[in-house]
This record gives sequence, C-alpha cells and structure tokens, in this order.
Amino acid sequence: MDFDPSPAQQAMRDALRAFLIRECPIEYVRACDEAERFPTELYEKLAAQGWLGIPIPEEYGGTGGSCTDLAIFLEEFAAHFEAGANIYYTSVVIAADALTHFGTEDQKKTLLPKLARGEIRFAFSLSEPNSGSDAASLRTKAVREGDEWVINGQKMFCSCAQVADYILLMARTDTNAPKHDGITMFLLDPKTPGVEIRQLKKLGLKPMDLNEIFLTDVRIPADRVIGAVNQGWRNVLKTLDYERCCLSAVNVGAAQSCLDKALAYTKERHQFGQAISQFQLVRAKLADMEMEIDAARLLLYRSAALVDRHIPNNKQSAIANLYSSETYVRAALDGMRLMGGWGYLMEYDMQRHFRDSKLAEIGGGTSEILRIVISREMLR
Ligand SMILES: Cc1cc2nc3c(=O)[nH]c(=O)nc-3n(C[C@H](O)[C@H](O)[C@H](O)COP(=O)(O)OP(=O)(O)OC[C@H]3O[C@@H](n4cnc5c(N)ncnc54)[C@H](O)[C@@H]3O)c2cc1C
Repeated sequence: MDFDPSPAQQAMRDALRAFLIRECPIEYVRACDEAERFPTELYEKLAAQGWLGIPIPEEYGGTGGSCTDLAIFLEEFAAHFEAGANIYYTSVVIAADALTHFGTEDQKKTLLPKLARGEIRFAFSLSEPNSGSDAASLRTKAVREGDEWVINGQKMFCSCAQVADYILLMARTDTNAPKHDGITMFLLDPKTPGVEIRQLKKLGLKPMDLNEIFLTDVRIPADRVIGAVNQGWRNVLKTLDYERCCLSAVNVGAAQSCLDKALAYTKERHQFGQAISQFQLVRAKLADMEMEIDAARLLLYRSAALVDRHIPNNKQSAIANLYSSETYVRAALDGMRLMGGWGYLMEYDMQRHFRDSKLAEIGGGTSEILRIVISREMLR
C-alpha cells in the first residue's frame, strides 16, 4: 500500500496550509474559542475558495475528492483549528455523504451545489436523552399523515443546530419492526413550527454549538425523507468507514498540533541550566508522542485507501478512529505535562487541546463501543 500523497494531493495540502496560515491565524482560533462563536468569516472564505466542495461530486458543484483527499484536508485543517475541522465535518461532510449516496436526484441538484457554495449548512441529529451508544433505540417518532410527516420527541447532543439550515434528523417510523429496521432520516428545517432548540454548555470545542432539540407536532412535507423509509439506520452504517476516517483525520491533525507546540516549548524552556528538551525523560515523552501520532496517521491513511478502493473496512476504520482518538487525548495530556504550570494557563493553547480532545473519545462511538466493534470483527 502506497501512503505517499500524489503530487495533486501534496499541492492541495500546501495550498490549504498557505490559506490557513493567512486566514486562520492562532489569534483567530483563540478568539473564536474565547467568544464561543462560530467562525463565520473563515467558513465564508473556505466556501469562496472552493474548499467546501471536496466531499461533493463534481456534477453537483463540488470537486469530488476521494476519502484520502478529504482526510488530508481535515488533518491539515485540524492541525490549525480543530473546532473548525469538526464544524466542517458536521456541517458539510455528513450531509454531503448522505445526500450523495441516498438522496433523490432532485435533492442532490437542489441541496449539494448550495452546500458547496456555503449557502446552506447542516447538522446531524441521532442521539437522544435515552439513546446514545445504543442509538438505534431512539424514540422520536414520525407518523405519516396524508402528505406530511408529523414528528414528536426529543433529541440530545446535536452539534451545529444553531447555525444549520437543515437538520438530518433520525426518527422512528415503524414501532413494530426490530429497532434497526424502523428508522428513517428526515430533512428538517429548524424553523418549522414545533421545533425548539436549546443550547448546551460544554467543556471544549467552544466554536461548535451543542444542542438539545424538542419536537412537538412538527409537520414536514412527505418528500423530506433522505433515502428509503425505514432504511435510515442501514444507510448510516453503509458510510461509517468513510466517516470514521474523517474523525481520525481530525484527531491526527490535532494531535500533531499538540506535539508541535510541546516540542517548541521544550526547546525554549530552560531549567537546571539547559533546555528541558535535553532531559532524557522529556525526550522519551516526545518520542512516544511522535511514535503514536505516526502510527495513528498510518492507520488513518490505510483506512482511507481501503475506502477509496471500495473495500469494506469496518475493523480497520474502527482501529484508526479508536487509536487516533486515544492518541490525541494522550498528546494533549502529555503536552500539558511537558509545559508544567504554564500549560495550565488559559493564555497558552495546550489547555484548549486538553478541553477539546476529550470529545474524540466520545463522539462517533465511545472508546468502549469501538473496542466492541473491533473485537466483534475479530471473532466473526
Ligand atoms: C460535544 C458533543 C457533540 C456531539 N455531537 C453529536 C451530533 O452532532 N449528533 C448526534 O447525534 N450525537 C452527537 N453527540 C452524541 C454522541 O454521539 C454520544 O454522546 C455518544 O454516542 C455516547 O452516548 P452517550 O453520551 O449517551 O453515552 P452512553 O451511551 O450512555 O455511554 C455511557 C458510558 O457507557 C459506556 N457504554 C455504553 N454501552 C456500552 C457497552 N455496550 N459496553 C461497554 N460500555 C458501554 C460508554 O462507552 C460510556 O463510557 C455529541 C456528543 C458530544 C459530547
């Protein structure tokens, strides 16, 4: 397996890096984090430069990038601005993926070009108060009444709902079917009467809002379904390898950022008459970080290559996701350790990684669930 980026991929990474250095300096990242605000200016510039189109096919206004292209993009983006990369994944990638694979021709033609141009944004709402890891147990119900669906229930943990023009909402449409078979994906306009969105306060990833959603007799047109009725869960599973690659790419980029900052700090900080990078125990820590991030990156690009070759890789993508998330959390913790008391100060960036990293072990499947997925594949 060849892990070298193609010349076009290397050129894309170089162009993106130059763009982010110019348009997304560290002061901007800090300001969005401190103000807990969506990075509107950056998002608009990403759209203007065509960066939103990577996961969207060319015939619908995107650039039709491969999974590897997208992984390179998200890794580089997260190395500069992790919350920004998470927002991109939530607002653009999940919807682009769902619409491309399961949308009707009309939905694709109407929505994908607008998504590529940055005119609309999405959120994805699966989790509920009583169904997280066991997501297929969701209870929010949609009932067909004439030309409409009527939705009632409560959603939990929906990222980006405050800034979304549409929410991809998973709801139960057949209460008699086995739990995985009675779920449908809907296209919900959050301004529809009966939708109430309440923002939740959280530890990190401050620029990306998190919400609970209350749905009371919400009426939407019958054609606001993505994919076949009752096939919502099966469809989500079909694109899981791809989505785990995206999350792994964010983890690898963000972990690398922790290491870069820690390395720079240890070269500058002097104790006992020398840079602390000269101490063997500090070097061992840096070497471990380097080794783990390197391994996580290889796992990511192996999985992306398998996705691009249409080879199912449930186990490999889960391994990449699990290893990269735990690597990121460890990199943030080790970064804090290497910076001593200074890492604990809000004026340094490591505390942001410390706060942001924890979600990597929760969202898209907790570490326990990913271990269950891997072991299930081993025992088949
Ligand atoms: C910041 C943030 C953003 C999010 N964004 C979204 C979003 O945009 N859309 C969305 O739908 N969801 C989102 N989520 C929800 C996320 O996917 C869930 O939090 C996650 O799936 C875990 O569910 P839970 O929190 O209910 O925990 P639970 O499922 O209640 O798990 C609690 C603990 O029990 C463990 N556990 C559960 N089942 C098992 C088992 N079978 N074996 C062993 N251990 C087990 C878990 O690993 C965990 O340690 C977000 C969450 C956060 C925190």
